[in-house]
Amino acid sequence: MINTTNLVDILQSFDQGYLLVDNRGFVVGMGARTSSLLGLSEKEAAGKHVSQLIRARGFETALFEGPDSVLERCVESGADWMSPLSGIAVDGADDVIYLNIQIRSMTWGGALILIADAGPVREVLESHDALLSVTSHELKTPLTAIKATAELLLAYQFDSTQRNEMLGDIYKQAERLELLIREILDASQLDSGRMPLEPYEVDLRGTLADVLDELDSQMGETRLTVRFPAIMPKVWADKRKLSQILVNLITNAIKYSPESSSVVVTATVGPESVRVAVKDRGIGIKHEDQHRLFKKFQRIPDPATRRVSGTGLGLYIVKGLVELQGGTVDVESAYGKGSTFSFTLPLAPVSARASA
Ligand code: ADP
Repeated sequence: MINTTNLVDILQSFDQGYLLVDNRGFVVGMGARTSSLLGLSEKEAAGKHVSQLIRARGFETALFEGPDSVLERCVESGADWMSPLSGIAVDGADDVIYLNIQIRSMTWGGALILIADAGPVREVLESHDALLSVTSHELKTPLTAIKATAELLLAYQFDSTQRNEMLGDIYKQAERLELLIREILDASQLDSGRMPLEPYEVDLRGTLADVLDELDSQMGETRLTVRFPAIMPKVWADKRKLSQILVNLITNAIKYSPESSSVVVTATVGPESVRVAVKDRGIGIKHEDQHRLFKKFQRIPDPATRRVSGTGLGLYIVKGLVELQGGTVDVESAYGKGSTFSFTLPLAPVSARASA
């Protein structure tokens, strides 16, 4: 049979925290993991009312406080209660934290309050919300343009120059849609660990030249300089993914800089790897915003780029692709002055490293 000591042992082994309270909500026991979740020791918690330890915000204050609290109703009726999966907002030491809380009424009159960190679940849910809002907005804009232009073409007669211009617009908007869908699929493949990778020895200089050809039409007045060492060993990478990384960083350098600005792409060869840096003289990023650049769906609001479209997935994909190939990403930026985004890739094995 399980005795009380065994029960406490079982509860202590849970990865989640718990508080054991009497029928009025005063703490009579606490699990080991609880102190890290609530930021207090067992001594501090003993004898206190649960509402003093879990300070729920907003409507949730009715959880433990007041004559008709959820806790009181559970204890009286012998029922259980569970917070939504996304957790409830609670005052943490520095900021609001989200906890998943379950109240289990006990046959002896008190209750077991199970506490778990709802942060990871919230991240998934928030990223899902962001996906919906980004996709609906970013899909809608080009789709509306395609539909409106096609309607005009169907309704009126245009001369061949006008027709070509309009068809060109439709093509551009369709490309934007294609990019968006590709970004969403890439992010999801990276998340699930199913991104296929075919690394072999790649000529970085040649790959960059192909990318610059591809980006020619977007370059506008931008002055782009390439600074590569005379002898450039091959890198060990998936060529298509390397192109994608370069396209993303160079497109951003153009997008987030004034027209006719300058962009410099540099390669530096180290003993084990090559560092490629894309430096612009654009809007720059404030220090406090830099930590979230490589996270999913993060866009930094700036009056200068309100009209620049994007999903906030590009740098997340860049980081994922670089790390998958054994490299690292980095950013240095000064607000108002410009940014340098860089990444490393391993050198190809010596046998395949012949310079290009
Ligand atoms: P997107 O460009 O689609 O918004 P990214 O993931 O490529 O998404 O970039 C995320 C955010 O980082 C951008 O929205 C922008 O705020 C900022 N950013 C990226 N590159 C630069 C850059 N070169 N200069 C200034 N800000 C940048």
